[in-house]
Amino acid sequence: MPEGHTIHRLARQVNDVFGGQKISASSPQGRFAAGAEKIDGRILERAAAHGKQLFLSFEHELTLRVHLGLYGAWDFGGDENFRGASSIGAPRRIGERELLGPAESYAGPPTPQGAVRLRLTTEHGWADLRGPSACELLTPEGLSAQLAKLGPDPLHGENVGEAVFIGGVSAKRTPIASLLMDQTVVAGIGNIYRAELLFRNQIDPWTPGNKLDRLTLQKLWKDAGVLLRRGVQDGRIITTEPADRLSSGELHYVYKRQGSQCLRCGTGVLLVEHAGRKLYYCPGCQQPQ
Ligand SMILES: [Zn+2]
Repeated sequence: MPEGHTIHRLARQVNDVFGGQKISASSPQGRFAAGAEKIDGRILERAAAHGKQLFLSFEHELTLRVHLGLYGAWDFGGDENFRGASSIGAPRRIGERELLGPAESYAGPPTPQGAVRLRLTTEHGWADLRGPSACELLTPEGLSAQLAKLGPDPLHGENVGEAVFIGGVSAKRTPIASLLMDQTVVAGIGNIYRAELLFRNQIDPWTPGNKLDRLTLQKLWKDAGVLLRRGVQDGRIITTEPADRLSSGELHYVYKRQGSQCLRCGTGVLLVEHAGRKLYYCPGCQQPQ
């Protein structure tokens, strides 16, 4: 599943290619036909991400909420005025598919392929959404209700949300490994960032939230912002510091490195199941306090 950095990149892309423009909307697959009809011909005012969710604000206070889930993806294409065209989401993890042809060859969007839930177009380009776990229109009240369910997003600024994050974690006896994946506690962190943040901050994954001191949680929050911002910039998750990388150029400290030596202490990295998800950690660096 794409983690928060991908959705923030997506918001930026939607703003670049559709922001402030009148949009044609349709649902070639039909499943979102009624919703598409309501935003068809309206101006897309702004795209914003909160954690793993994308919110597109249209005029007349209608907001489209999209969650890509495990299988969702957006494809973009268009002419030379439609910059940054690419595909973002699952399953194309390596690189982003470039659909931008030579400028003179652009003759409108292609015939929809497969189950396109939503197609957005302007005269300069198009975007297709396939396979989202959520695609719905919200009223202002519905939007408030959705946002109220989400924890703070570290990409909304280093200090914005810090107190809420610390309060949320400190109130629970749940292991920190679970709390970091709980989108009501902090929004945008998935399995890779979870493992890497706990490693970088030398936290035992099973430490109950209420046993972590304030300074540790402050550092954890700030580090989440640092890593997610790098992800937005790079378009992928890179969590190792250059000095820690071997000649093979490890991108992660523990994620998918089970059985290999820890880059910092040499202990074997472990993989266990935790709450139904894979959890990677270094028992040498991440000892109980
Ligand atoms: Zn270690």
